[in-house]
Amino acid sequence: MAKHTIVLIPGDGIGPEVTVATRRVLEASGLSVEWVEAVAGATAVEQGHDNVLPEPTLQAIKAHGIALKGPVTTPVGTGFKSVNVQLRKHFNLYAAVRPVRSLEGVKTRFENVDLVIVRENTEGLYSGIEAEVVPGVVTSMKVASEAACLRIARYAFRYATRRHRKKITVFHKANIMKMTDGLFLKCSRQIYEEEYPNIEYDEVIIDAGCMKLVQDPSRIDVLLMENLYGDVVSDLCAGLVGGLGVVPGSNIGDHCAIFEAVHGSAPDIAGKNVANPLALIMSGVMMLNHIHEEAMAERIKRAYNQVLMEGKVRTRDLGGTAGTDQFADALIAAMK
Ligand code: NAD
Repeated sequence: MAKHTIVLIPGDGIGPEVTVATRRVLEASGLSVEWVEAVAGATAVEQGHDNVLPEPTLQAIKAHGIALKGPVTTPVGTGFKSVNVQLRKHFNLYAAVRPVRSLEGVKTRFENVDLVIVRENTEGLYSGIEAEVVPGVVTSMKVASEAACLRIARYAFRYATRRHRKKITVFHKANIMKMTDGLFLKCSRQIYEEEYPNIEYDEVIIDAGCMKLVQDPSRIDVLLMENLYGDVVSDLCAGLVGGLGVVPGSNIGDHCAIFEAVHGSAPDIAGKNVANPLALIMSGVMMLNHIHEEAMAERIKRAYNQVLMEGKVRTRDLGGTAGTDQFADALIAAMK
């Protein structure tokens, strides 16, 4: 069996707890792995690095091309730039892919949610270009480039084709942001018309789209959108299927990929062993598929489906009392 080398960034807040749980579950699935631990964010500074994204961390990701990452806190307002945004830009991880699915055994308002968010990950309002025009007036620049818009649209259509998905819906606000969102739409439409006319295609203004999502999410298949919309809509969709504890994610580029949950560092529950590790475990499953360890991915998937269906062991966010470790133990037991 091939031995994989994977960079592991525990992050902070609930990050270390959920990464330990995920690591244990991945290893129990049979994964032969050498973990290369790396630090980022406040943890890096605490450990004496002069940067929140130290050079050894960047070098490790570059060398091995694959990382599993816990969440990293970003100070609000002032302080260092988001480690997450920096990483995505540095490695050109232009596609954030976030599958959102109803889970049997997790009761929510809807039962048949099975959608995927494809979020442009490198530009939009995350360009970080902000300025004070005159005292009391500040601006933030929304950037859209034709190259990045075409690249993410092509990625979404290719993804939909490979995964046998039927339809791509673009959420936009091109009625107001005529140039930036207008370009995003134009590029999406172009890829649809010229390269993937076999996939259904639709464009919806994002505010109306959000209403449709919460009325009947089962009608949505693949959602394509720019950076900030993708961020906001991801959490909205998480709420449709049981919350942030059950939604995984990946950040994909042409040369490397970083797998991480949609949720953040959850400082309100950090260090209490109550966080749900499932979102990161599911991100690990996406990683296993990415490195062609499909049998292991399937084993873990079956285990969490079984444990959730039985309903005896679940974390607090899903109405249970199990701790982070206990939930991982239950998955490991279910794989035996
Ligand atoms: P959050 O996702 O950390 O938490 C939102 C709510 O969901 C909280 O009530 C939290 O307790 C709950 N929650 C999140 N994950 C959970 C889990 N696995 N199990 C159970 N409950 C869970 O969002 P926030 O509070 O807005 O952000 C906290 C910090 O995380 C911020 O600094 C933010 O910038 C950062 N963040 C990082 C990432 C990342 O590293 N990729 C993503 C989002 C937010």
